[in-house]
Amino acid sequence: MKYYSLNKKAKEVSYKDAVIKGLAEDKGLYFPEIIRKLSSDFIDNLEQYSNVEIAFEVIKQFVGDEIPEIVLKEIIKETLSFDFPLVDIEENIKTLELFHGPTMAFKDVGARFMARCLGYLNRESDKEVTVLVATSGDTGGAVASGFLGVKNVNVVILYPSKKVSEVQEKQLTTLGQNIKALEVKGTFDDCQAMVKKAFLDTSITGKMQLTSANSINVARWLPQMFYFFFAYKQLQDKLKNVVFSVPSGNFGNICAGMMAKRLGLPIYHFIASNNINNVVTRYMQTGDYQITPSHQTISNAMDVGDPSNFIRIQEIYNNDFNALKEDLHSYSFTDDETREAMLHIYKTSNYIADPHGAVGYLGAKKYLKKYPNTQCVFLETAHPVKFLDVIEPVINKIIDYPPQIKAIIGKTKVATSISTYDELKSFLLDK
Ligand SMILES: *Cc1c(COP(=O)(O)O)cnc(C)c1O
Repeated sequence: MKYYSLNKKAKEVSYKDAVIKGLAEDKGLYFPEIIRKLSSDFIDNLEQYSNVEIAFEVIKQFVGDEIPEIVLKEIIKETLSFDFPLVDIEENIKTLELFHGPTMAFKDVGARFMARCLGYLNRESDKEVTVLVATSGDTGGAVASGFLGVKNVNVVILYPSKKVSEVQEKQLTTLGQNIKALEVKGTFDDCQAMVKKAFLDTSITGKMQLTSANSINVARWLPQMFYFFFAYKQLQDKLKNVVFSVPSGNFGNICAGMMAKRLGLPIYHFIASNNINNVVTRYMQTGDYQITPSHQTISNAMDVGDPSNFIRIQEIYNNDFNALKEDLHSYSFTDDETREAMLHIYKTSNYIADPHGAVGYLGAKKYLKKYPNTQCVFLETAHPVKFLDVIEPVINKIIDYPPQIKAIIGKTKVATSISTYDELKSFLLDK
């Protein structure tokens, strides 16, 4: 399979190069040249296939022959070693729980898949690849866990000192081996700026192969298509139109859902549920795309002012605003509304939603008011334990640590403290 750059100035590349480079030379995101529909026979009979079989059918055209089928199947099997249950919340609303992986955030699937692909694709090279990533919380843990022990791959994670939760910090700093954590005296934006500078610094890139591990990388973005198939497989009533409400930040997850629809999955509509960082909500109302600086909220994985994957959504809909409008609604909610929703869901359904899932729930509710003849699935993107300080006071209940978290919370943190770009540079070049 070939991938082209959405800036249209760089050469087409193979899956391997798209994964290793992350971003094209012209700074564009990669996009697959061809998207082939799956057979309707397969889609009509999803219940008869295992998750691994479904994922293999869904992803194989995007990998092509660059990874042998038997290896790809093994990669998928290792990636999907946990459940994706669809849970009833109330009439016409269900949630797909994506948090049963090792770091309890939905980013585990993409990170684990990408790590294993990169390990395979780079297996014979004597050059190590260094994955350099800035995190505001969840990405770092998923990447650290996903890449742990992968041969020929080093991971360097920058995180803002004292601005991630205790659980998140432990997930980044206690693994050892090929995972290095840099604790930056500064904000997430400072971390991000250092990472961007390093990618453009030829005195670094001349000496080592750097790649990114956020959802601009096709190997992290595309496996997210699986979720929509897993949800559809579990729906009891397939005759009623199904709508997905996706709590969105960089729009990688919802964009993967739109790819699933292109593959033939009968998704009736999408809802991009946003916190007050709502560039897309405003765009869908006005047709005017205005990026803004991000604001801090209690659903902080969605505090994004300039969503990197929206350009891929534009490509899927041929830059046709009216075509996009046929498939997408977008709503935006405040922190107060999000807290109210968490309490409401807890009281009426005895279900604890995390703040991101609660935003997804609100989107589903709002859509159902207008279109009651549909069923909505909102994606629950993180386990509530990752946001204890927000949730516990709202529902007035102590949340127990699941085993994945208990296992790391007592471990000792290992991180190198840095405050300037030059310190990052010597850290990278010294290794
Ligand atoms: C990353 C993240 C999101 C946003 O996903 P995008 O693909 O960036 O839109 C939502 N919820 C949680 C918990 C996340 O970690």
